Amino acid sequence: MIETVKSVVHNFNAGPSVLPREVFEEASQAVLDFNHTGLSILEIGHRTSLFEPVMAEARVLVKELMQLDDDHEVLFLHGGATTQFMQVPMNLLNENELAAYTDTGTWASKAIKEAKLFGHVEIAGSTKETQYTSIPKNLTVSPTAAYLHITTNETIAGTQWKKMPYDCGVPLVADMSSDILSRVLDFNKFDIIYAGAQKNMGAAGVNLVVVNKNILGKVNRPIPTILDYRNHIKEGSMLNTPPVFAVYVAMLTLRWVKKQGGVAALEKLNDAKAELLYTTLDGLPVFKPVVAKEDRSTMNVVFVMEDPALEKEFLDLCKQEGIVGVKGHRSVGGFRASLYNALTIDSVRVLTDLMKDFANKKG
Ligand SMILES: *Cc1c(COP(=O)(O)O)cnc(C)c1O
Repeated sequence: MIETVKSVVHNFNAGPSVLPREVFEEASQAVLDFNHTGLSILEIGHRTSLFEPVMAEARVLVKELMQLDDDHEVLFLHGGATTQFMQVPMNLLNENELAAYTDTGTWASKAIKEAKLFGHVEIAGSTKETQYTSIPKNLTVSPTAAYLHITTNETIAGTQWKKMPYDCGVPLVADMSSDILSRVLDFNKFDIIYAGAQKNMGAAGVNLVVVNKNILGKVNRPIPTILDYRNHIKEGSMLNTPPVFAVYVAMLTLRWVKKQGGVAALEKLNDAKAELLYTTLDGLPVFKPVVAKEDRSTMNVVFVMEDPALEKEFLDLCKQEGIVGVKGHRSVGGFRASLYNALTIDSVRVLTDLMKDFANKKG
């Protein structure tokens, strides 16, 4: 239980994180009585006329919201984004081949570690030397690489790719766990996109995977049934029991995204939220944003204090105002405010007003 003094909570958690209120309400209702059937969503079979339309709608909504062409298949899989760190190379990279990876932080490094289990890895670009406070600008990708992997938003470092390496000359794979559905990209230019649902599109327990089916079937290792994307495609993302409830919550969230006007409408809002927070940070000498201006994430805003001794005092004030989840990741320290789709600009304003008050008192 998170204790707050205020009854209204402003949830800046990095993940699992804030979801729309109406999604919580509909999901709770479905636990008690799903679609007026007298049954809970938790006690129905997945291969039934009750659940099949849920999976179908979730897949169609992703296609529609991301404007995917027919080569791109939409899957909802178990195991979180971390499973994709190994499932991608297992399906795409032969043992004697090379995959290109960009090293932009904690998450990219974990993906690299797994890829090395399956083949060779070349680092196409890295910002490790500068503590991952920026995104690499000039990449070197071998034309023979099986693919290039990027992490479009580094949730811990607070960086985000603004210009995608669409012209890298090899298939493009992206971990979009923390900025999926937050901005418009040319999604058909990616060959694999994966994202754990718990940051921007639902509850923990399910992973969105978009696959261009034309890049599959090129590795010669045997792939366990459950890890072979082709089997999931063939079975319509129902190879085995899917995480039924998590898929349902993702479907509700996708419906909500559509109702807001789709990804483009959310992008506008997300830009406005990020601009408000970064402008405030830049204007107050007490606070110090960590990331290079041009690479700042609109989803995860990382900052510290000029005088670290003041950090605890500000955290306590946040708590009093009902602001939760702003303590920085243990590896970076300071603060991190996550501004996912469902976080309102009013919540950001509560935070920025508090920052201004605090800066006035200390300045
Ligand atoms: C959270 C996160 C992950 C890990 O997701 P799990 O679902 O916990 O495996 C991977 N990549 C990025 C960018 C993330 O933000």
